[in-house]
Amino acid sequence: MERRFDVVIAGGGAMGSATAYWLTRLSPGIAVLVAEPDPSYARSASALSAASIRAQFSNPVNVRMSRFGLEMIRDLPAALGRVDGVGDLGFRENGYLFLAGSAAAAAAMREVAAMQQGLGAATQLMAPGDIAGRFPWLATGDVVLGSFGARGEGWFDNMGLVQGFRAAARAGGAVFVRDRVAGVSAAGGRLAGVELASGAAMACGALVVAAGTRVDEVMRMAGLDLPVEPRKRTVFVVDAPAARHPDAPLIVDPQGIWLRPEGAHWLCATTPETDGPCDADDFDPDATDFEADLWPKLYARAPGFEAVKVLRSWVGHYEYNRLDQNAIIGPDPRMPGVFVIAGFSGHGLQQAPAAGRGLAEVLLTGRFQSLDLSDLGVERVLAGRPFLERAVV
Ligand SMILES: Cc1cc2nc3c(=O)[nH]c(=O)nc-3n(C[C@H](O)[C@H](O)[C@H](O)COP(=O)(O)OP(=O)(O)OC[C@H]3O[C@@H](n4cnc5c(N)ncnc54)[C@H](O)[C@@H]3O)c2cc1C
Repeated sequence: MERRFDVVIAGGGAMGSATAYWLTRLSPGIAVLVAEPDPSYARSASALSAASIRAQFSNPVNVRMSRFGLEMIRDLPAALGRVDGVGDLGFRENGYLFLAGSAAAAAAMREVAAMQQGLGAATQLMAPGDIAGRFPWLATGDVVLGSFGARGEGWFDNMGLVQGFRAAARAGGAVFVRDRVAGVSAAGGRLAGVELASGAAMACGALVVAAGTRVDEVMRMAGLDLPVEPRKRTVFVVDAPAARHPDAPLIVDPQGIWLRPEGAHWLCATTPETDGPCDADDFDPDATDFEADLWPKLYARAPGFEAVKVLRSWVGHYEYNRLDQNAIIGPDPRMPGVFVIAGFSGHGLQQAPAAGRGLAEVLLTGRFQSLDLSDLGVERVLAGRPFLERAVV
């Protein structure tokens, strides 16, 4: 027998769970079904992420989204109400330190710092001497300028955020099932319903495609497409006994790597030289990323990395938007009833609170209410009109 929901959400990661929460909060009584094939989230980007938040973006809309995310991440129980399963996210406010290695990069850094400060971010520019004074273990000989977010940036419990949204959405009446959207049906050019892998058929007024790296796969079920592809990233957990700095910021290095402390150890990753689309099921760590690329660069940045031990590594995939490395949020004009929340290109976790709220608003009322995310809509993708984010880490 076919059941009916107002909204079916494909994917229960950060985006699907946040959207389900906001739908139930903004429209009490709404019937929402979230289909998530793996409630352990073992292979979801939300679980495999570096779980960090920053205000240092080049595009004002991303600064605004992260500023809103920050409010919720700082105190999730207060934001979501007293619900079982919503806990504190242990936000560590160590900041991000972006380093510029050329005059051109420094000029761009100055320009975006002013914009970020204008939106309330604590970004401060630092000359190489200031950086060396504050972080004496860093090599700054090749650094032209630094940009440091001393407040409102750091890292937090990623799965605490997902589980918090999930618990609050359930408390609001959303139904989560262990299942996969396997087909999409239309009638008269409009969405009619979905079929699940279990064989269940669901009629629905709206489908939210929140399937992370598999968003294009779900869109194709509706005869649509999006330029979003999986891009593999291997994250390494490293111990460097002569470089233990648990109070360090997340450092975005112009050599093309990032690193941040994880307790006494470090997390770090590089952008592979042959970056491109990959198999979404490829979870084998690329050990050569560390030996051939990361290690020499870590050592160049801090001599304490001379002796290191890789404790473990894992693979996650960016849901990479080929057009402009920015989120795609909103209705798909090609098929009324289909809504997209995807393509976050490595900075989505922190944006889930704002993105989920925005998508719920546009789905319920036809337009964004609290934060105008219309520049992130599907239209610019269909028109091939990039709305760029340059600070992709
Ligand atoms: C290594 C790495 C580091 C990162 N670091 C950060 C960071 O520091 N800060 C930050 O903000 N972001 C970061 N990100 C990005 C962030 O993790 C993602 O943008 C975000 O988690 C995406 O959330 P999502 O819900 O769209 O995707 P996911 O968490 O991947 O969830 C999508 C879900 O859809 C489900 N699904 C797939 N197909 C179907 C289907 N047919 N039907 C139903 N469900 C389906 C999957 O099982 C999955 O659980 C990082 C990502 C990676 C890989």
